[in-house]
Amino acid sequence: MSAPGRRPLVAGNWKMNKTNAEAAAYCERLLVLLGGREPAAELAVCPPFTALERVAAALEGSPAWVAAQTVHEADAGAHTGEVSAPMVAATGARGTIVGHSERRAAGESDAQVAARLAAALRHRLVAIVCVGESLAQREAGETLAVLTRQVRAALAAMGREETPRICMAYEPIWAIGTGRTATPDIAQEACAQVRALAGERLDGGALRVLYGGSVTPANAADLMREPDIDGALVGGASLDPDAFWAIVGAAAG
Ligand code: PEP
Repeated sequence: MSAPGRRPLVAGNWKMNKTNAEAAAYCERLLVLLGGREPAAELAVCPPFTALERVAAALEGSPAWVAAQTVHEADAGAHTGEVSAPMVAATGARGTIVGHSERRAAGESDAQVAARLAAALRHRLVAIVCVGESLAQREAGETLAVLTRQVRAALAAMGREETPRICMAYEPIWAIGTGRTATPDIAQEACAQVRALAGERLDGGALRVLYGGSVTPANAADLMREPDIDGALVGGASLDPDAFWAIVGAAAG
């Protein structure tokens, strides 16, 4: 369970899913589930760029906020296919994911992750910064080394005052989209390491650290009961608003 002062956050990463019509239907259902009540956790949805503005408008005034899945490090320019932080901020979104492993696998470097985090913060977006090891790295005993490299690189230019705008997400690559969730013990150990590493730059006691990797309504409560896990970054299960809502509810313990 999160320490007092660290409100759990459950964020749903839709990845490359949902047309605008599907996104609108999702929001309609989520608003019914929210029912005007204060949820057990803070919640955010991360639609594809095409649906950002529509989802932000639909959820405006509700406790749910909206985040992009990445931003480019430049504010504007000749970067075909990319979207910048000021463009995202102008949609009404309040945050963005940075450094998701699916983007790192497509070539995003540690330096780019750091530059994209800086761009997000420059434009007052909250950043959910993803780190995590592959199966081969875990089996080779390199988990801590990978986390150390990724966290230090991402946060190299950050200071404690940035803590409220940053949320770290430990996402072991071997658990993402595989149905192979980390055990609560493994997730806790790594989230504690991420907190300690991030604490070299940020206020580790106040920082939220999420776990991500095959989180479902069935395993969410056990994961979020751990002291260094302050919520979840959810992929597949977040595509169904009822499943996503059940995970939000699991944050209550
Ligand atoms: C993710 O995409 O960040 C993720 C954790 O996906 P899944 O929940 O599907 O494993």
